[in-house]
Amino acid sequence: MAGVSYPYDAPVSQTLFDRAAVVTPGGVNSPVRAFRAVGGTPRFMVSGTGPYLTDADGREYVDLVCSWGPMILGHSHPEVIAAVQEAVARGTSFGTPGEGEVALAEEIVARIEPVEQVRLVSSGTEATMSAIRLARGFTGRAKVIKFAGCYHGHVDALLAAAGSGLATFALPDTPGVTGAQAGDTIVLPYNDLQAVHEAFHTHPGEIACVITEASPGNMGVVPPAPGFNEGLKKACADNGALFISDEVMTGFRVSKAGWYGIDGVTPDLMTFGKVMGGGFPAAAFGGRADVMAHLAPAGPVYQAGTLSGNPVATAAGLAQLRLLDDAAYEKVDAVSAEIRTLVGEALTKEGVVHRLQTAGNMFSVFFTGSEVTDYEKARAQESFRFTAFFHSMLSQGVYLPPSAFESWFVSTAHDAAAVERIAAALPAAARAAAQASEGEK
Ligand SMILES: *Cc1c(COP(=O)(O)O)cnc(C)c1O
Repeated sequence: MAGVSYPYDAPVSQTLFDRAAVVTPGGVNSPVRAFRAVGGTPRFMVSGTGPYLTDADGREYVDLVCSWGPMILGHSHPEVIAAVQEAVARGTSFGTPGEGEVALAEEIVARIEPVEQVRLVSSGTEATMSAIRLARGFTGRAKVIKFAGCYHGHVDALLAAAGSGLATFALPDTPGVTGAQAGDTIVLPYNDLQAVHEAFHTHPGEIACVITEASPGNMGVVPPAPGFNEGLKKACADNGALFISDEVMTGFRVSKAGWYGIDGVTPDLMTFGKVMGGGFPAAAFGGRADVMAHLAPAGPVYQAGTLSGNPVATAAGLAQLRLLDDAAYEKVDAVSAEIRTLVGEALTKEGVVHRLQTAGNMFSVFFTGSEVTDYEKARAQESFRFTAFFHSMLSQGVYLPPSAFESWFVSTAHDAAAVERIAAALPAAARAAAQASEGEK
């Protein structure tokens, strides 16, 4: 990326990035934010309103990242902000139980039938880590099946062939995870039920759980093939293992009841994060009451958190969930469809080979001609075209995820004016994608 000049500058962001790099590894607190996959200066954002973000240089962007999903009502939604201000005024953390966390748990249980009980945590990583521990504690077994390209946070045991930042960097593995930590993880190709059956056959009585993204969004959007989740559920049931559906990304985003609300397959345990925190660190795992009963203090499996169920975070999450009614999802679905159509038309017009893949209102563009059903196929795309497309959009004030391996996210706040700005930026971006060549990066 050195040597490539971009037709626009972000001097204040660059100064902040330089400062950050002195005190923080790579200048960021989460890798994809550093723009390494696309090059250029990461934009340091200072404020957000509705569908827009404003960076430190005073430029405004239509935001198609939405904080990687959480901001489904757009930025600074007045009712969420009011709920936060009201909660903050009463104090920020008590280290005791409080009503807000009960109300949030009730809201989750009411929305998602398979969740009989839920435990609140502070990040999606914590949720999946705890769900895996619980599954192992409940079954007395060690092994975990996960799928290549599915990201479940940076849990040691699950950082094998993970998506998201790891897909971006194409790291096969990460130093610091020991053989012992990853040794009980079986990584299989996504959408391959036969491989799952073979793994259960090879390791009888040893597999505690299968964990999967309910509909993967961390290798780009790669929905489950018809019957895949149902097949996982059945394979688990037949073999005494638990089926864990990771809905940290899809939960409360693709429908009122997340991906479960779309495919209706009942998992034993589920994990949530992102949307349910309303922009604050709140996440959860939950499911069958008889399994959840194994958690401390009800049962022997230990799990805890100083800031779990934090009153400000739960107030934000609850306010956001209460605003997410059927009409809100209809709106997000509609604007998602509108933007997808515009993107597809612009790329087609320039003759750019691509595929738009969709899961509810989540979608992403793959620069490839064939259907992407697993991680291997996702990685076979021409991601250098995405780089050109991304920078053209950015220079025209549209903020896309800075990686070809991430879902795009929209919100109820993406109105006609925001869509119009995207539409105006697309022709040039599509041309840039068409003209890009592999060597450029
Ligand atoms: C984002 C994500 C996580 C991790 O959540 P964090 O809050 O970033 O720790 C886990 N699983 C899925 C499917 C995710 O998209």
